[in-house]
Amino acid sequence: MADQSKQSGSIWPTIALVATIFAALLSILIVPFNPFNLTIDVHNDALWSRILSSPIFSSPIFTPKETYNETDFASRARAILRSTPLVDGHNDFPFLLRSQLRNQIYQHDFTQLHLGSHSDLFKMRKGMMGGQFWSVWVPCPGGIDSGLLNFTAPSGTEPGLNEPNWAVRDTLEQIDITKRLVAAYPSHFQLCTEPSCVRTAHKAGKIASMIGIEGGHQTGNSLGALRLLFDNGVRYMTLTHNCDNAFAAAWTGVDATKPMDSREADSGLTSFGRELVREMNRLGMLVDLSHVSANTMRDTLHVARAPVIFSHSGAYTVQNHDRNVPDDVLVKVKSNGGVVMVPAVSFFLNVKHPDQATVEDMVDQIFHVASVAGWEHVGIGSDFDGSLAVPKGLEDTSKYPHLLARVLARGATDEQAKMLVGNNILRVWEEAEKTARKIQKGGELPNEAYWADREWGPDPGDIVPYLFPRT
Ligand SMILES: [Zn+2]
Repeated sequence: MADQSKQSGSIWPTIALVATIFAALLSILIVPFNPFNLTIDVHNDALWSRILSSPIFSSPIFTPKETYNETDFASRARAILRSTPLVDGHNDFPFLLRSQLRNQIYQHDFTQLHLGSHSDLFKMRKGMMGGQFWSVWVPCPGGIDSGLLNFTAPSGTEPGLNEPNWAVRDTLEQIDITKRLVAAYPSHFQLCTEPSCVRTAHKAGKIASMIGIEGGHQTGNSLGALRLLFDNGVRYMTLTHNCDNAFAAAWTGVDATKPMDSREADSGLTSFGRELVREMNRLGMLVDLSHVSANTMRDTLHVARAPVIFSHSGAYTVQNHDRNVPDDVLVKVKSNGGVVMVPAVSFFLNVKHPDQATVEDMVDQIFHVASVAGWEHVGIGSDFDGSLAVPKGLEDTSKYPHLLARVLARGATDEQAKMLVGNNILRVWEEAEKTARKIQKGGELPNEAYWADREWGPDPGDIVPYLFPRT
């Protein structure tokens, strides 16, 4: 008996186990056919999360790459930022290094510093930044920002476009400091001068670092200097900052009392500016239309041979600020194939009450650009560290996932969100590169145009030979 009872005791658990496996297999086979017309809610997230958290599904074979609730916008945002690099169009952090640290970075360990700026490595990593166009910004001589640094001419007056100032020197120094910062932290940053590098850097867990300069005055109004800036890694140039230059009219120069489309004061792109755009297209340097006047936007879109960018500009219809882009230009951006990267600057997000600007105001602008130009033509260009006026909810570089979660909560699809954060700017950059290759293959030479009012100094024929002797 003792043996029998022992034997029967060992059989029943085995039978139970076999029956359970059989029932489980049967249910897997018949559930898809739903023969009893049971109501199966395939969108029942609680059920799925119980199923997926069971031991069998937690094995490496069954673990899905991303498990999140469709309505869990924060998780969706983070999943998107893991797969697609978030490439911000504009950040002025290098200006802080030049103006506050005098370009001296080696006495600091930036991996250990919580800085007062909108950007530091802790914030950027928390914000899942995938790539950044670092702005190399030197304020305009005599412009509205000139009080930031001393750019007056030696005589103490505002310099004209022919007079010496330090814009080109300081631009070169700021390129140097940006490259040195990137090189000093190779496990965090990677310098990128072509778009394919951005995805490679992102996959390697690094922040792709690109350089853009913020105003044609930083070339000294010279196409030769522009080419050397390109050789040094600069991949976009804003045609103007807050001052007119030899190339184009800035937003600051237009008569704001007149309607946007009837401003006689807005002279737009100059003839030399058309040569500049031509040369930038030949080089493959992105043409940036933030800060320019509305007519400069229109003129440039008329002559550009490659897609343009707005590295940090919003939508004028949403907020009537002249730094924002009017709807007729948004329509042209769509046909040009370019991208408008919306900023996190309170003045452009809430003109009347900038102190009340929130991340929702930025989302409004993103959706407006998407509705007029299409989701293929909108991006993010925070302008962090370029002002103190940041919206609530998007105070620094750590908050990108929150911004994206709010965009998703308003109804954007994952595909639209991926275009917004990085795919659009990378597509535009690829197109600009492709155009440049085509132009160069066609034999177009470097552009030798110069500004008509350029002063060349006295005729030196008395002290050096003439190339073409005069008779
Ligand atoms: Zn700016």
